[in-house]
Amino acid sequence: MEERGTPDGDPARSLERGPEGPETPIQVVLRVRPMSAAELRRGEQSALHCSGARTLQVSPPGGGPDVAFRFGAVLDGARTQEDVFQACGVRRLGELALRGFSCTVFTFGQTGSGKTYTLTGPPPQGEGMPVSPSLAGIMQRTFAWLLDRVQHLGAPVTLHASYLEIYNEQVRDLLSLGSPRPLPVRWNKSRGFYVEQLRVVEFGSLEALMELLQMGLSRRRSSAHVLNQASSRSHALLTLYISKPASQQVPAVDPGEPPVGGKLCFVDLAGSEKVAATGSRGELMVEANSINRSLLALGHCISLLLDPQRKQSHIPFRDSKLTKLLADSLGGRGVTLMVACVSPSAQCLPETLSTLRYASRAQRVTTRPQGPKSSGKKHSQNVEAEILQLQEENRCLRLQLDQMGSRASGFRGVRMAWAQRNLYAMLQEFMLENERLRKEVSQLQSSRDLARGEQRVLAQQVHELQRRLLSACVLHQPVPAPAPPCPCLVMPAAPCRALPPLCSCPCCHLCPVCRAPLARWACPQQEGHVPQASGSTPLSSQPPPWAPPCSPGFAKSPGERNHSDWTQTRILAEMLMGEEVVPSAPPLPSRSPRATPVLRGAARIPNLAQRLEALRHQIGSSLRRGQSQPPPSEGTRSPGQGFPPC
Ligand code: ADP
Ligand code: MG
Repeated sequence: MEERGTPDGDPARSLERGPEGPETPIQVVLRVRPMSAAELRRGEQSALHCSGARTLQVSPPGGGPDVAFRFGAVLDGARTQEDVFQACGVRRLGELALRGFSCTVFTFGQTGSGKTYTLTGPPPQGEGMPVSPSLAGIMQRTFAWLLDRVQHLGAPVTLHASYLEIYNEQVRDLLSLGSPRPLPVRWNKSRGFYVEQLRVVEFGSLEALMELLQMGLSRRRSSAHVLNQASSRSHALLTLYISKPASQQVPAVDPGEPPVGGKLCFVDLAGSEKVAATGSRGELMVEANSINRSLLALGHCISLLLDPQRKQSHIPFRDSKLTKLLADSLGGRGVTLMVACVSPSAQCLPETLSTLRYASRAQRVTTRPQGPKSSGKKHSQNVEAEILQLQEENRCLRLQLDQMGSRASGFRGVRMAWAQRNLYAMLQEFMLENERLRKEVSQLQSSRDLARGEQRVLAQQVHELQRRLLSACVLHQPVPAPAPPCPCLVMPAAPCRALPPLCSCPCCHLCPVCRAPLARWACPQQEGHVPQASGSTPLSSQPPPWAPPCSPGFAKSPGERNHSDWTQTRILAEMLMGEEVVPSAPPLPSRSPRATPVLRGAARIPNLAQRLEALRHQIGSSLRRGQSQPPPSEGTRSPGQGFPPC
């Protein structure tokens, strides 16, 4: 059997006690709601039994040993709302608030366990739909008591209220004039954590306060799920601020204590829920996860607050908006009451046990209630304490950062180092490759320039040779004699495959090879020539496609030479060499876009030089032969031999 809690005694008396010195424990009241109609219909059994005013027995359905929990008060399903209000000792909290203490009442438990019911009564509630007085919850009853108390004080007291909800980790003002929008949570030395731009409304009557409550309830997020038809999807905080003019004094509850202002906060937590049990999907699931996360943060803070060494340890109130706003109530200077709510059904036992354990731990948490600052000395003591607290928080946060850093370097360090090494190696490789390519490009450019220069020289030499060849032809024409047969008749086919037909009778007058008048040659087979008509211009009047250097075509620079120029050169060379000649530079129009001129030109130059040499040799020997021999007769030449002198 597990026993937790304060020693037995009169619960009302223990709860009525106020701050009992420097450390005051959180008061915890347990409320067990009655079995719901649905649970009874399903035939569910109760697993909880109240034994005495402060002890709860839990009987596991499997027949295991009973477990007992003790709290400040235990209230079963038969207890009315008024019973709960009386047993919780909320009036005492109100008195402390009037004296300047910061007091909090919060409900805690599984979804559908009766938290909202305990604080504000059953749903639905909203503007113009107040709850019936008999079912009114702790809040309405406290309001009524407080207004009555203030009225009878006989001293001016100013009352204000604010109402907010924390929905999906966003603070929304439930009393805002427009639609609620997210508000930031800030911290400063004098106020601790607070919500910036939160609307705080002054009220002077119970009716006005009830209206504010109804307004907030109607705007609060709630949805239906399997366990609760009106499940709150947010944590809601309604705060009453009690203040008085500095010159005025609120009569003290205990003689000798200074009457000052304070605040009273009611917190209706959203319930923890197992998503599988509530059947939450989509938005409901997001809400449930957010709720569970903030409740987990709250549980974590409570656990750390229980640590006997907690003065040296940092409490992570900053982990969620909820813990920030409850920081003062849990571990600060406030006075706190927790109302833990549970369902009696055996079906809910796991969640119920969890709530009971949580509540048991919470009641061992102590706060250091602190009233209004009465002296400068106390103030400086507080400042010193706050500085120490902040230093401690800084130290813890730095430690966490270091841990995160080392953890990150633990599992990412190896990969990061590997990636950095690889990147560096890649960079080096790219730089080397770039350097190599840059060198290659400059080499290619210089060899291209060289090749172009050589091409230019060779082309000039070729032209010169052509000129000399043609003039040699003219010089060595035989003296007029009986007209020899036209050369085109001597070797009509094979040698002239690269040449155009020599004449196009009947209108030819000049030999297109040597420009000699054809009248010197007989043309007995005029009818055998195919006319080369090109438009109406007679061929004899057109320059031949392989015109001699003196023709305008040869005035061009090598760079300007066109396809036919190169063709002429090639034809001449073939005529002289007796074999096919590959042009040293590519014919420009037929250049392949993918071929690099530099490479092609450079590759062909040695060949062209050789051929040029051979051409020179051929011309020399041809000239020598021309000087020493008479023109050959038609029987001495054969197709395939070099072009004979005309
Ligand atoms: P929670 O806020 O914990 O999710 P609710 O307060 O909304 O749960 O209660 C769930 C349902 O149970 C509501 O319909 C409420 O009226 C009903 N209920 C809760 N506690 C009691 C009670 N003590 N007596 C009668 N009905 C209750
Ligand atoms: Mg609720």
